[in-house]
Amino acid sequence: MPEMPEVQAHAERLTEDFAGAVLDRFRPLTFTALKTFAPAPEAAAGHPLLDVGRRGKHLLLRFEPVTFVVHLMQGGRLKPDEKQAAKPRGGQARWTFADGRALLLTEAGTERKAGVWVVEGDPLGQEPLDHLGPEADTLDRAELGRLLADNPMRLHGWLRDQHTLAGLGRRLANEICHRAKLSPFASTGKLDDDAVDRLHAAMGECIAESLAYERTRSDMSSSKDRPGAVHHRQGEACPVCGDTVRAVEYRSYTVNYCPTCQTGGKVLADNTTSKFLK
Ligand SMILES: [Zn+2]
Repeated sequence: MPEMPEVQAHAERLTEDFAGAVLDRFRPLTFTALKTFAPAPEAAAGHPLLDVGRRGKHLLLRFEPVTFVVHLMQGGRLKPDEKQAAKPRGGQARWTFADGRALLLTEAGTERKAGVWVVEGDPLGQEPLDHLGPEADTLDRAELGRLLADNPMRLHGWLRDQHTLAGLGRRLANEICHRAKLSPFASTGKLDDDAVDRLHAAMGECIAESLAYERTRSDMSSSKDRPGAVHHRQGEACPVCGDTVRAVEYRSYTVNYCPTCQTGGKVLADNTTSKFLK
């Protein structure tokens, strides 16, 4: 799933290419794409796109009367629509502009989870953004410490919980735990001050490095292309210590870690027993 750095860099590219373009019409291409009944998306017709912003993993297409909040979920993409085909593959929704260009929201696969919310006024206090925690790159050390203690969970899951902290997913959770030299299964309620210091520094570094990389791209990179130390690198050597990167597999995702850097050399049990560690 695209995480904060990919979505942020994409929002910046879309702003550069489409800001100022006047919307001709918005059209959902499936029954599930538009998640709201009111206000009507037609309210934006005739208005220029102000910019494309981001909150958590959501894109915000701002027009003066309404904002379109787009969640890409796992397989969604929002791209310039060169062909403007009547039935585009995976097509979910299309914004057509008066200058003839268009943006197309597609979703690979059959999950139908990507979607568009149309909201009036400040979108931050409304669905689907109202339950998001603070942006992961805006927390100071003290606030991070307080949030960790307030909601004791396994660290990897805590980092990915959008209600606690917005913007991080599996890849950054893996990379941040490794950078901070913390077990992905450490309890957030038991981290000492030194561990919270390392976690805070690791979050800032990993997010900044990812964003810098994504800004060099002309489109969202795929997960396997992104630089990193442990994510999707099981069996490879840890770039810090040379130990073998390990994996704990879950049904829908994988936790990667380096035993020497993160778990005192302990290799964690794989999937059959690891459900007890979740
Ligand atoms: Zn290591």
